[in-house]
This record gives sequence, structure tokens and C-alpha cells, in this order.
Amino acid sequence: MTDPAKTWTRDEAQGIYDLPFMELLFQAQTVHRENFDPNRVQMSRLLSIKTGGCAEDCSYCSQSARNGSTLPASKLIEVQRVLSEARKARDAGATRYCMGAAWREPKERDMDALVAMVEGVKALGMESCMTLGMLEDNQVVRLKGAGLDYYNHNIDTSERYYPEVITTRTFADRIDTLNRVREAGIKVCSGGILGMGEESQDRIDMLVSLANLTEPPESVPINMLMPQADTPLADATPIDPIEFVRVIALARIMMPKSHVRLSAGRTEMSDEMQAMCFFAGANSIFVGDTLLTAENPENDADMTLFAKLGIQPMEAHEHSTKDAPKHLDAAE
Ligand code: SF4
Repeated sequence: MTDPAKTWTRDEAQGIYDLPFMELLFQAQTVHRENFDPNRVQMSRLLSIKTGGCAEDCSYCSQSARNGSTLPASKLIEVQRVLSEARKARDAGATRYCMGAAWREPKERDMDALVAMVEGVKALGMESCMTLGMLEDNQVVRLKGAGLDYYNHNIDTSERYYPEVITTRTFADRIDTLNRVREAGIKVCSGGILGMGEESQDRIDMLVSLANLTEPPESVPINMLMPQADTPLADATPIDPIEFVRVIALARIMMPKSHVRLSAGRTEMSDEMQAMCFFAGANSIFVGDTLLTAENPENDADMTLFAKLGIQPMEAHEHSTKDAPKHLDAAE
């Protein structure tokens, strides 16, 4: 079994990534079964609570004001609207509600509303997650006090490739916020995007950086770039699907107790590719018809695929089976 506290080297990770594909999948599925029920997938719902007009220059993002985006900048939406959407998501099976704002960092004037959103989502019995950009210590404390379960802050790619994608902040800024969130006792959601012109070495280095954080993130979203018109990556070459599955498998092996999430890009994946990702250890998806500004499969399509594969949605607060007795006989 992989030790979750292990410190990974690039060579070790590369050695696993380069295994013959069937061997890699077998190892990933073995690690997956040691830590999770292989037939259960966690469902998260994402709502954009403030869209467009972002001061950052992420090359993949249509919400950046610097990318010549025509997406209008909205204000922070009202708390009651967020909670009404959260209730609908809960009734449709989502167990975690993720609220994302297109900001470099939140302003103090927005903190009361953000705190009320977290408290409201918690009162609905769901896990709460926010992605708001960089955070100061006092903001982390307020969100933790409101009951925030997860903070999403993707590292996006390797440290080497980061300046090719974003210039308005550094990879180190990203790690600082992740450490601040972790120290406050909030769970960490952090992953990246594949298909931005990076090399396979960058994908491996990204996973090494995530696995070697003080603790690996509890959730690791792996996105496949959905090229957005008017962004610098509009014409990026898509990642090979087998390479994508290799990254999922490596993430599963290196971060055995984390939820590895299929995020943006699922509309471009066949059922077979998604099934292969689940076999490689992905056990979380975003549900709903939009992912901030990229498309996401309709809920019905997800449920049809789950039924075909015999997959059940994971319950809220159901995590790694690491400490629980395993009942694999029924599942295998
Ligand atoms: S990815 Fe986030 S931080 Fe980057 S431009 Fe888009 S909204 Fe802003």
C-alpha cells in the first residue's frame, strides 16, 4: 500500500507513469480498492457566485479581464440565491457545494456574505467548498469559523510551466495560500489542468508538488482543458486520452486517500474514457450543466453512465475506507 505521508521524487513518479498501461491501471485499481469502495463516486456541484472581470491573467480562462474576454463582470450574487441553488443541488444528489468567485482575492466588504453562504450550505447538511483566490490569515479564520470544509486553490501545472500560463501571480503564491488554509484546519482541494501545451514531465511534477504538500489535498481535481474562444489557449492541442488516464492513475497511486476528481472537460470524454478514468482511480465528479464557464454533462447523462457502470453516488461525509473494515466481497 502507498504511504500517504511518503515524500515523492520525480524519478519515482516518472517510473510509475511510464509503466506499461495495463500494469499502471492494475496498480492504480489495487491502490484504489485498498482505500475506497471502487463502485462509489462522490458528486460535487459548482456554482459561480461572481463571474467575469477577474484581474488575473490565467491563459485558459474566459473570466480574465486581461484576456480580451467579452464575458461581462457580475457582482457577488445574493446569499439567498446561492442557498436556493444549493438546496436544488442537494435534492439532485450532490453532497458537496462548491462556490467559485472570479477574484484575485476576496475584498473585506464581501466577507459577511461569504460567511453567510458557508453557514447556509452547512445548515442544508452539505459539505461546503469555496474558491475565491488568495486569502489573508484573517479571511481564512473567518471562513473556518463559518464551518468551511474545503478550499479549492489549484496549482494548475508544474512550477516550471506556471509562468507560461499565468504571470499575475507565482506558483509560490499558490502554495502559500494552500499552506495557510491547511494550517487553519480547512481541507484542501487542489489540482490542475491538462492540455495547456505542457509536457508530460510537467504533469508529473504537478502531482509530485501536490503529493508533497504538508498533507496531500483531500480532493484533487484533474481538468482537461476546454479551450475557450478569445483566450491565449483557444487553439491548444488536446491531450491524448491515454495520457490523461495515465495522470489519473498516477494521482491515485501517489495520493491514495484523496478524492481524485474528473472536472472540466468531461463533455469531451466518451463514456468509455470516463469509465477508464474511474477504473484508474477517479472517484469524484462535478455535476450540473456548467462549470463556471465551461460545459459539463447533464445530470441525466451522469446518472445513465453510473447505472451502466453500477456506480453509486457517495454519501456526504463518506471518505476513504482507510479506517473502516472493508467489505469488498459484495463489491468485487
Ligand atoms: S482562473 Fe480564476 S483567477 Fe484565473 S482568471 Fe479565471 S477566474 Fe481569475
